[in-house]
Amino acid sequence: MDGTSDRYRWTETVSAEGMWDWDLRAGTMFLSTRFRQTLGLASDISAPSGPSCPEEWFARVHPDDAPWLRAALDGLRAEPQASSGRAMLIEHRVRCGDGWRWLSCRGMLVRESGRPARLVGCVADVTERRAAEEALRLAEERQALLAAGANDGLWGWSPQNGDLICSPRWTAMLGLSEAEHDGTARVWFDRVLPADLPGLTAAIDLHLSGEREHLQHEFRMLHADGTERWLLVRGIAQRGGDGQAVWMAGSMTDITAAKRAEQQLLFDSFHDGMTRLPNRTLLLDRIGQALDRDRRGGATSFALLLIDLDRFKSINDALGSSLGDRLLTMIADRLIGLRRIGDTLARLSADEFAVLLDDIGDVTDAVEAAQELSQAIAKPLALDTHQLVVTASVGVALSATGYEQAEDMLRDATLAMHRAKSGGRARIEVFDGDLRRAALTLMRTEADLRTAVEQEQLCLFYQPIIALESGRIAGFEALMRWNHPERGLVPPGEFIPLAEECGLIVPMGRWALRTAARQLRVWQARFPRSEPFFMSVNVSARQFRDDDLVRLVEEVLADSGVPPSSLKLEITESMLMQDPDTCRRRMQTIRDMDVRLSIDDFGTGYSSLSYLHKFPADALKIDRSFVQALSSREGNAAIVQVVATLAQILGMDAVAEGVETEAEAEFLRDIRCRYAQGFLFARPAPAATIEALLVNAGGLVPVA
Ligand code: C2E
Ligand code: MG
Ligand code: MG
Repeated sequence: MDGTSDRYRWTETVSAEGMWDWDLRAGTMFLSTRFRQTLGLASDISAPSGPSCPEEWFARVHPDDAPWLRAALDGLRAEPQASSGRAMLIEHRVRCGDGWRWLSCRGMLVRESGRPARLVGCVADVTERRAAEEALRLAEERQALLAAGANDGLWGWSPQNGDLICSPRWTAMLGLSEAEHDGTARVWFDRVLPADLPGLTAAIDLHLSGEREHLQHEFRMLHADGTERWLLVRGIAQRGGDGQAVWMAGSMTDITAAKRAEQQLLFDSFHDGMTRLPNRTLLLDRIGQALDRDRRGGATSFALLLIDLDRFKSINDALGSSLGDRLLTMIADRLIGLRRIGDTLARLSADEFAVLLDDIGDVTDAVEAAQELSQAIAKPLALDTHQLVVTASVGVALSATGYEQAEDMLRDATLAMHRAKSGGRARIEVFDGDLRRAALTLMRTEADLRTAVEQEQLCLFYQPIIALESGRIAGFEALMRWNHPERGLVPPGEFIPLAEECGLIVPMGRWALRTAARQLRVWQARFPRSEPFFMSVNVSARQFRDDDLVRLVEEVLADSGVPPSSLKLEITESMLMQDPDTCRRRMQTIRDMDVRLSIDDFGTGYSSLSYLHKFPADALKIDRSFVQALSSREGNAAIVQVVATLAQILGMDAVAEGVETEAEAEFLRDIRCRYAQGFLFARPAPAATIEALLVNAGGLVPVA
């Protein structure tokens, strides 16, 4: 090693740079220890550097950088003598271990005797610097993107003297010109809505005091055009050595659109889309608030009115839903017109509205308000060419009842409304304890009834129907009983209406029809007659409308094997009048099967005589109220006679129900009523009892 090598090493030690020396004539290359270390080569400088050394170096240079490193070195070699001594500076990447490092490489040509002899230079690892530069560039780019893309206004503020600097976008966001900004924070804080200022300053203070890491807060400011804008401010403080904030900077974003969408969403989830009135959720919330006030010792009471339009479904079906919607909007407008300040008017479902009446004296006030609303609803309405009068049933619940839960109050108002409906509609009912008890009993009965059906607690009683002329049993009526484990035998009046309401009547009726037909088959076989016994089975309105009825009757006939003409279905007169046309068609289908039809409870349903002859019925059953009035001499003899005659004219049989005295039977025989049924002949009884009667009396009913 000569003195030059020593100098290399010294310089290298102090400069932290690596050295290289390329002997152009010998084609060898000397790399200093540090350079070799950087390249990950053995650091032993005494190791002879073979002629392949320059290539070893190039092999490690990043493929993107190698071509121009070579070009630069070639350029240096070919340099004309005149410009000798020029230094080359190039930054390139080399592979070191697993990764790439950036080297800054300097070089110059050394001539000996005027001819290029060596290229010499040094390298420094500048990876960290390059990374920092890259990071900075990225950060700047991001910043620019952020400011441009997010449409943010930027601001810097001195908490100490109140100076405020801001970007043009910041002022533009508020519709201000830059000239309107006087350099102080007043341009900001003076425009914040007074209601939002305490919240904003609190948020800033929390960050300044170090309790919050960042400032992030939403608030409203006044735009130059007078509108309110929602803004989101983000910021961070710069602190001095003592931890005190000396400067604060951040961004501000206009979030008005997002806020509006959010508020709309909030509004939508608490309001009905069509009328924009509060919905059930909001109503329940308001009731809850009123109950809270009440619990805290509110001096006044309040009431909840539940308003349900009568027969809205049929109106809607008849008019079509778009006219139906218009009708609802018109009704809603009438209700809105009557709403007092403090009251909540809500729409709960299509045709169901509720009013939470704030501050009422007593029940009279609530009923008066309900009357006023009902009258407003019932005023004639013009919809296109239609003139309509819509009535409503109203249920009232009073805070005085003492509610814990909003839902309970709404439930009671609903119960009262249902009572108004069943009481004949267009009425107002106030909830009271009896109603709740009745509702509870009903609920329990319904549950029990389901069990009854499942556990076969239902049974059929049979009551003989007598041919008056011969005094012999002609047939039977099947009457359902519920053999309740605690209550004993429950009469149908106590469970049939409920079964009808909850739909259980369909499976119950199916069972009754099947059982009665099988029983008839047994009796017809054991007690053959020239005219076989018939069996009357009651069919409820819901059952009669059920689409499966016809198939059920076919099935029952096939299953029991009774002749169709000995099966009679009893449908009530009131049912016929509910939907006469559909009813008539259905009756015809059944009549076509040769099954017979009786109109039950005749005389109570106000059916019009003009209709009666259109129904293909076989018998009219004179309601027992008329028959029994025969004995009390209230002048009903004429009615019974007229009905019997009417039956004759229409080609139907007359059946008198509820015959209890011989005098009644006598009278009925005289007017040629064909059949009679009543306690006088036999009470409804289980099949075994009836069978004993048939055996003992041979079908001749003992007359009391
Ligand atoms: P309904 O079809 O008019 O039945 C006649 C009712 O009069 C029966 O009442 C019967 O027990 C009663 N009755 C018979 N003779 C006399 C009498 O001389 N004096 C008095 N005071 N009453 C008499 P029940 O069994 O309580 O049935 C009541 C109603 O329940 C029936 O009236 C019928 O509408 C309905 N019903 C009974 N069973 C069924 C059924 O299986 N299905 C359906 N849908 N309804 C049924
Ligand atoms: Mg009947
Ligand atoms: Mg009857």
